Amino acid sequence: MSLLPRLVRPFSSARTWIALGVLAPVGMLAASGIMLLDLRQDAWDKAEQTSRNLLQVLERDVARNVEMYDLSIQAAVDNLRTPGLAELTPELRQLILFDRAATARDMGVMIVIDEHGGIVADIDAVPPRKGHYSDREYFQVHKARAGLGLHIGRPIVSRLTGERMLPFSRRINKPDGTFGGVVLGSVKLSYFTRLFSQIALGRDGAINLYLRDGTRVMRQPFVEADIGANIAGAPTFQGFLRQNSGSFVHTSVRDGIERHYTFTRVGDLPLILNIALSTDEIEAEWRVKALVIGGIVLVLCGVTIALSLLFGRELHRREAMQSELERLSLTDTLTRLPNRRAFEHAGARAWESARHNSKSLSLLIVDADHFKRFNDRYGHQVGDEVLQGLARCLSASVHRPNDLVCRVGGEEFAILLPNTDEAGALRIAEKVHTEVSTLAIGSAGITAGVITVSIGLAAGAPNGTALSALADLYRLADAALYEAKTSGRNQTRCAGQQCVPAIPPRLKLVCTS
Ligand code: GH3
Ligand code: MG
Ligand code: MG
Repeated sequence: MSLLPRLVRPFSSARTWIALGVLAPVGMLAASGIMLLDLRQDAWDKAEQTSRNLLQVLERDVARNVEMYDLSIQAAVDNLRTPGLAELTPELRQLILFDRAATARDMGVMIVIDEHGGIVADIDAVPPRKGHYSDREYFQVHKARAGLGLHIGRPIVSRLTGERMLPFSRRINKPDGTFGGVVLGSVKLSYFTRLFSQIALGRDGAINLYLRDGTRVMRQPFVEADIGANIAGAPTFQGFLRQNSGSFVHTSVRDGIERHYTFTRVGDLPLILNIALSTDEIEAEWRVKALVIGGIVLVLCGVTIALSLLFGRELHRREAMQSELERLSLTDTLTRLPNRRAFEHAGARAWESARHNSKSLSLLIVDADHFKRFNDRYGHQVGDEVLQGLARCLSASVHRPNDLVCRVGGEEFAILLPNTDEAGALRIAEKVHTEVSTLAIGSAGITAGVITVSIGLAAGAPNGTALSALADLYRLADAALYEAKTSGRNQTRCAGQQCVPAIPPRLKLVCTS
């Protein structure tokens, strides 16, 4: 067979189409699954990258501003050592103390507090405004510890302006190193509000600024109660403390929303900045795509499967129809026995097999005696019933699975007996005569024994005789049948030398020479 038909042949099978119809959608589903996972990864990568970029911008801004305020505070601490400062007028003293102080929009207050907590210099007023600060946390901290450097306290409400501030402070040391007070510079929390509000992070996104002790300095979106709250014990905050920067996904203890947290420390300061994006929103765009693509793929898969099943069913029906036609073309409609065509096919195979295996093969040709008379006397329909009865008798006479009973002509039947020698075939012929002798057609008044058959028997081994084809065996059996007919009918005649009669005496069995 040439290559093309060999390639095309499997596609004429219903099974191939059903298998393709299932495999193709499975492949489609796998490919689109991989693609969707890839798209999802892209959405996450994009979110991570965006968060990192934003965080970097915010961190730089906050760090730069804090540095600027700290430099102002440091300058005031340094200027306090200016000789003769105490003797100067309050105006001059203020000028010298805050000469390098930055003035910025978000600068809160900048004051010098003495060791008792009173204000000795104020960047905004001469003489300084009145106030007492010894109870403030930053005052206590500096008083208790020298060499602390810059201290960033918890958010407070300024006693001078009433605004929310983040206090930055440095300790003043007297010449002998003892506590001499504090320089306080504060930043309005509105600075962070304004800075964070420029960034849109979706409905459930958030930006947070924390002190390292877990105190929340600012949150965007702003909720009053969040400011100053301490979340040191929350798993998310524990995550922020583990490294200087990084990211992770966690469910917020604040509102139960799962978020992707990207965090970083602000320079070397005890501040932690984070951007939290809702995982739901990160995947929202992807989810729409996944729904659309998934939906289309599922519909396509469904259509493919349905079409393949329909196509497969149609092919199956065609195959079934073809095999039924094939069966019908090999079956005799009256007796339901295989017909002459089937006999020729099966006979050729049996002949080949006997030749190949060096076995003998026998053939009986069974012909109804004086059948024409039945037709003439009882009518064609009764004749048909007789033929059907004969078919049953013949079928009942053979038992091996490979034995084949066929109707090869009008009232003529053939029995092919593979792997059977003449003696065995004679026993079958005997059985046929016996079975036929019991055949009666009650409705027509035909009693048992009225119907008889003549049988021509030929046996041979395709390997060891001069026979070259099944047709030779048939010819011999036909000649033997003729002998049986001319010798008085209702008997079996064998072609060949030996013929062992093995049938009841009332049946004539004659073997030619
Ligand atoms: P013989 O003993 O010499 O075989 O005589 P016979 O009458 O059986 O043989 P013959 O060949 O003279 O007649 C066969 C008859 O079988 C002729 C035909 O009408 C009849 N016949 C053939 N096929 C059918 C059939 O399918 N149904 C019926 N009812 N009769 C059929
Ligand atoms: Mg006949
Ligand atoms: Mg005949």
